[in-house]
Amino acid sequence: MSSQNFKNRQEEIVSFLKSRGFVFPSSEIYGGFAGVYDYGHYGYLLIKNIKDAWMKSMIQERDDVLALDSAIFMHPTTWKASGHVDGFNDPQIDCRKCKTRMRADHVLEEFGISADKQSIEFINFELDKLRSENKLFCQNCGSSDLTEAKVFSLMVKSNLGSPVDTLSEDNVVYLRPETCGGIYLEYKNTVDSLHPKLPFGMAQIGKAFRNEIQAKQFIFRTREFEQMEMQYFFNPKAENGEAASAYFEAWKDYRWKFYLDYGIKEDNLRWYKHEKLAHYASDAYDIEYKYSMLGDSFKELEGVHQRGDWDLSQHSKFSGADLSYFDEASKERFIPHIMETSVGVARMMLAFVDNAYEREELQDGESRIVMKLDKRLSPIKVAVFPLSKKEALQTKSREIWKNLNKKFMTEYDESGSVGKRYRRQDEIGTPYCVTVDFDTLDESSDKHNTVTVRDRDSMKQERVKIDELARFFAERF
Ligand code: ATP
Repeated sequence: MSSQNFKNRQEEIVSFLKSRGFVFPSSEIYGGFAGVYDYGHYGYLLIKNIKDAWMKSMIQERDDVLALDSAIFMHPTTWKASGHVDGFNDPQIDCRKCKTRMRADHVLEEFGISADKQSIEFINFELDKLRSENKLFCQNCGSSDLTEAKVFSLMVKSNLGSPVDTLSEDNVVYLRPETCGGIYLEYKNTVDSLHPKLPFGMAQIGKAFRNEIQAKQFIFRTREFEQMEMQYFFNPKAENGEAASAYFEAWKDYRWKFYLDYGIKEDNLRWYKHEKLAHYASDAYDIEYKYSMLGDSFKELEGVHQRGDWDLSQHSKFSGADLSYFDEASKERFIPHIMETSVGVARMMLAFVDNAYEREELQDGESRIVMKLDKRLSPIKVAVFPLSKKEALQTKSREIWKNLNKKFMTEYDESGSVGKRYRRQDEIGTPYCVTVDFDTLDESSDKHNTVTVRDRDSMKQERVKIDELARFFAERF
């Protein structure tokens, strides 16, 4: 793939991810479906490894977080209690000429005006000022004929169990806009069945749906997406009354280190402190990543937010269920406070790809594309090649592949020259390639029963005995 053909890095990476079977625009044969994407073979494997890494750090490596997998559909009152039905809106502004729909707060941001969580009156006031100064134009066609901003609900409705033609506010169900709702609803069952002591967390990964006004920037913002969310329940009086800040700081540190551990360059991460908070929040930070493919700008990757006792209090009030916690030591009963960490799977994938994708100039005047992903995230761990399509080489290679694929995600490839096969594996981030050659089969050679193992990053090759391959890779993964 030649970089000269692309306008910018975004176009190059989007095209790369499609051509190499990672990400496809949804419903393409029908002309596409905005804001929805499908994940091909390597995309699926990369995403699976990202989710496993997150779950490992949340569940396996901690003794205070429990797993959950709650349903997408929930009782509709859930979203009344949470405030989503009335308040989960974004301000929308339309171009009368080309019909482009824009997020009014994003339009204002381009003028350095922060409109995050501001009222529609504030937004229209600021837009009017820009209009009177002849500064307000459509981001698509440049027309100045724009509507007023109005609120636009992000909730996606459905009609589970009721015919579409009778859909009304009384029988509507919603596709969840965030996964944490399921955690609040299963808090009580979790406490009653597993008896965790505070502080403890509940973590889950699942799909969420938002009717985003503008679903652009590839998989950064989509209408159907997956979230990885952890809600940490605690007694605000613990830690000498400092529980909120103590746990908050510890979790901020924990999540920051997760990204460093998986190879994100620290210079490309920063904290953003929310000045304007959601009505329930007492402190909110985002981890921002500098997406080189999105114009080199820092963008929200993950949120770490204090939610106070809002969620359990609201669900208690609307459902009538007692969601209080009895603390044996202090003999006190109270509604636990919550802090959360929340990140989109695809946003994380995009950050890892952006961080790892390199076009490297080689000594012989050639270049290669290589994805220097952390090995734990690589879709394929080992690729096995016969040097050529000679039957004996193929048989031996397949035998090796069959042994290794019991333990590692391994790919067998015999098409094209070995050089081309190395390049293909570099592109998808495979850390090791194994090549079976004639020495492997030659009983008189001192290389008999050995293979070449080639390292993705250094491109160095070494000979390894076939019998020792499984151990060799086990030590490296
Ligand atoms: P934004 O300001 O980008 O719209 P948000 O503040 O509404 O995001 P949250 O509601 O805090 O986001 O969601 C938590 C996380 O879920 C975000 O940090 C992001 O990683 C992910 N996320 C939210 N909306 C989307 C979306 N439409 N597509 C992909 N990921 C998303």
